[in-house]
This record gives sequence, C-alpha cells and structure tokens, in this order.
Amino acid sequence: MSINIAIDGPAGAGKSTIAKKVAADLNFIYVDTGAMYRAMAYYFLQKRISPDDEKTISAECQNAEVTIAYKDGEQQVILNGENVTGYIRKEEVGNMASATSVYPQVRQKLVELQKQLARKNNVIMDGRDIGTCVLPDAQVKIYLTASVDTRAKRRYDELTSKGVSCDMEEIKKDIEERDYRDMHRENSPLKQAEDAVLVDSSDLTIVQVVEKIKDICKEKCDL
Ligand code: C5P
Repeated sequence: MSINIAIDGPAGAGKSTIAKKVAADLNFIYVDTGAMYRAMAYYFLQKRISPDDEKTISAECQNAEVTIAYKDGEQQVILNGENVTGYIRKEEVGNMASATSVYPQVRQKLVELQKQLARKNNVIMDGRDIGTCVLPDAQVKIYLTASVDTRAKRRYDELTSKGVSCDMEEIKKDIEERDYRDMHRENSPLKQAEDAVLVDSSDLTIVQVVEKIKDICKEKCDL
C-alpha cells in the first residue's frame, strides 16, 4: 500500500517549498494540487470566461485536460498537451484559481486525478482539502499555517527578488481575500482536518519546518 502525506494550509504558508524538500528527503513524489487548479484557471483566462460564469466554466471543464509529469524531479503541469508550468504562477492566475475552484465540476475533475496519483505512489500532496477530502485516510496530515503579515512579507520578498514591483498592502489584501474565499466556500473549504497536526511556520526557518514535518512522518509511518 502506498504512503500518503497530506499538507494543507492557506496561500503563502510555505507548503510547496516545504513539501518539495520533504519529498526529496523521503524519496516521495511531490504533488502540487494548487498548480492543477491554476492550470484550469489559465485555461478559463485564455478563453476569456468570467469567473462568475459557473455554467460556461462547468461546461468547459470537459475541454481542459490537465495531467502532470516530472522533469528533473520538478512537477510539470500539462494542459491539453501543452506544458503550462511557466505560465501559472502570476497573481492573476492564482486569483482566478481561487475564484473558479469553488465550482464542483472543477473540483471533481482534479480530485479524481489526485486520488489516482496517491493510489499508485508514495506521495506528499499539498493543497487546501487534501486531508479533509482528497486523502481522508492519509497516514500523515499536516496543517501548515503562518500569520498574514509573515505570508505577505514572504510573497513581497519573492516578487521583488525576481525584479517584479509590487505593493505590500495589495499583497496583504489579496492574501486575506483568498483566505476568506478558500475558507468559506461551500465545496471543500480550507480547514484543518481533525486528525491533522498544526504547524505554524511564522517564526520558523524552512529547515526547521522541514525537520519538524519529517519527524512527524517518521513517528507516524515508521519511515
Ligand atoms: O496553492 P495555490 O496558491 O497554488 O492554489 C491556488 C488556488 O487553488 C487556491 O487559492 C485555492 O482556491 C485553489 N486550490 C484548491 N484546492 C486545492 C489546491 C488549491 O481549491 N487542493
């Protein structure tokens, strides 16, 4: 039987950075489910569909084929045969992903793909609903969070280091709006699973969080 590690939490808590490192150390496959929602969102943006147009979005789901592949250990997201990994990290795509991930058709399609991956492989999967909906039987569940200020500062530093000019207050507002939407939507809202371990990364370094999570994994699954 495969071993599944679920990491959920709000935007900017460091899930992907941490999960990638834990996966490399434990020799697990890392699955970034947010990238799948972003790929769908990229498709809707390209088609110029309004995020409020549930009917068109639901109908278009069948025309957007999302799969994942790995290149040099990095997850690649393939949308209708095209590798869109380089196009999905913009704020615009993240906000569209948050707005369109509320629709059941979008979720159903991606959750099925996520479950399949976890059945066949030892995975560490991050997202919003992994411990609660996608992998309710995961051997390890982590809820990784950090304060809004910390998360906004990390995002600000990341963008400015890439030469992207940005405004701290705007980033904070975006994060708060995204948190609210992700936590209050009807379908699979972001919440800590009852059996998840809470890890607050606000005052911890990346290395400290990775070690903490690896310790939890070793304790729970005898790795
Ligand atoms: O994690 P990331 O910021 O890439 O996710 C983008 C958006 O996709 C989130 O704001 C959330 O609305 C949605 N998402 C989701 N369920 C997941 C992963 C992401 O609804 N498992």
